[in-house]
Amino acid sequence: LSTTARRRSWWGWGYEDAALPDHEVDDLGQWLATQFPGAQLSRTDPPSPDSLDLPQPRLAPPDSLAPIVSTEVADRARHASGCSFRDVVRALAGRVEHPPDLVVRPRDDREVSAVLEWCADVEAAVVPFGGGTSVVGGVEPDVGPHFRGAVSLDLQHLDGVLEVDELSQAARIQAGALGPTLEEQLGAHGLTLRHFPQSFECSTLGGWIATRAGGHFATGPTHIDDLVEAIRLVAPAGVLETRRLPGSGAGPSPDRLLLGSEGALGVVTEAWVRVRPRPTWRAGGAAHFVSFSDGVAAVRALSQSGLQPANCRLLDATEAIVNGVSDAVTLIVGFESADHPLDAWATRAVEVVRDHRGAPVGEWTGEASRAGASSSWRGSFLRAPYLRDALVRLGMVTETFETAVTWDRYDSLAGAVEAAVRAAMVDAGMEGGLLTCRFTHVYPDGPAPYFTVIAPAHRGGELDQWAQVKAAASEAILDHGGTITHHHAVGRDHRSWYDRQRPRLFGKALARVKATLDPAGICNPGVLMDPLPRPRV
Ligand SMILES: Cc1cc2nc3c(=O)[nH]c(=O)nc-3n(C[C@H](O)[C@H](O)[C@H](O)COP(=O)(O)OP(=O)(O)OC[C@H]3O[C@@H](n4cnc5c(N)ncnc54)[C@H](O)[C@@H]3O)c2cc1C
Repeated sequence: LSTTARRRSWWGWGYEDAALPDHEVDDLGQWLATQFPGAQLSRTDPPSPDSLDLPQPRLAPPDSLAPIVSTEVADRARHASGCSFRDVVRALAGRVEHPPDLVVRPRDDREVSAVLEWCADVEAAVVPFGGGTSVVGGVEPDVGPHFRGAVSLDLQHLDGVLEVDELSQAARIQAGALGPTLEEQLGAHGLTLRHFPQSFECSTLGGWIATRAGGHFATGPTHIDDLVEAIRLVAPAGVLETRRLPGSGAGPSPDRLLLGSEGALGVVTEAWVRVRPRPTWRAGGAAHFVSFSDGVAAVRALSQSGLQPANCRLLDATEAIVNGVSDAVTLIVGFESADHPLDAWATRAVEVVRDHRGAPVGEWTGEASRAGASSSWRGSFLRAPYLRDALVRLGMVTETFETAVTWDRYDSLAGAVEAAVRAAMVDAGMEGGLLTCRFTHVYPDGPAPYFTVIAPAHRGGELDQWAQVKAAASEAILDHGGTITHHHAVGRDHRSWYDRQRPRLFGKALARVKATLDPAGICNPGVLMDPLPRPRV
């Protein structure tokens, strides 16, 4: 099925036809009952969009924009939030708290400008919407009382690979292209972007740029930042287009200003990105460790070895069990290249693993390794979001916290997060739940740990439980030298911690940048910074 023919779920992750069918959700519920005796597990079914009682749109578009405007209830409900635990819980309860008045789908830059101009005229906020997979409240039109309405600006029609420069290995791609769509078009040239966040299936190039997404490469070019050559932004004040350059020392980088701008500075409509030939050589495998700390030491050594594996994920034992990978602390390492065999790299990585008391599993070199020792991890990784929704339907709290920290502070941060989360779980009545950890990305100077909580909820109180645990984890992360987000972005949910992490003067400078690009303050008000001062309407 092509991605355009399939229907996106209005209330949860992904495509309707790929969600767990009800009988599988029930089977999962029966199994969970054996793991969490006494849990209140019963299946909630998503309400039909027809049953939602949304307020009438407060905005009437001009005739010139009417062909690209939708006011359908299901469309407005789908654009009212992203895909976080909080979003799914509210949608399942039929709580659509901030529906946009209009969903607008421009077909080119000229229409993007026209929408921005009209919104400034009528004092409406504009929330750019890529794939809507935000897990931090980034696409929810919760814009406060200072606007006469809110427009969700969906970039779905801007989905083409417009140009390929095979000599420089770069491509100009429209911002609304979903991961599979852009990979399919690049594939026709034998090229790939190789940016595969877990949300790849349903997220877009523009969303990745706007949130500084973290993707496929566990070391080296981990963030989309490293793959971006130039960006085109349509802002209320005009068009800002950066120059294609392989590198530049000409002042602060304008690309870096736009990366992570979360729709607050304007709309990214296209970008030149660095692409590469598809890999033909692979090597690598898995290893088990008796303790997580041995695995951590091995990962640190690998990250500082210069080997730069494409994949380098460390899973604690619970994470390995939950993902059906093994029942031990597991390290998955993968090398890939379109140019040369990698057996020498894998052989050296095995030595590093053994130096830290790791036990390699199976062959790391030759044909056996090409089958991919990490395939069971990969399958489970891609299926996980659908499973997450099934857990929420059954009344489980499932949430993730991710950060990055330098090696010298890793132990104290990990200990503090674990202690704070476990204490908050007890306070919130979630004792007996699971807390797992894995490293999603790793740098020579520190790892990016990713924590997951899974616990039975108190029906009706799950959002309070979630908020309690999230606040505890976020405080511990900030207090122990981590970043409030390594790749999930700031949005609305991380604002208070981001404000504390961000240097005060930088915050003031950012506000001035916004005032220049978006003088009326209509672009995604509330993400990254407080809305610009405006009279209440
Ligand atoms: C199950 C799941 C797994 C995930 N896995 C990962 C992961 O592995 N790595 C990772 O980094 N993130 C991950 N995320 C988070 C999310 O997918 C990323 O933040 C992603 O980059 C968002 O892309 P999107 O196209 O869906 O953007 P949206 O959710 O539509 O928007 C995100 C933000 O960017 C803004 N925006 C979107 N498009 C534009 C544009 N063209 N111009 C200006 N602003 C824009 C929006 O206004 C919003 O503030 C995951 C989310 C889920 C639900």
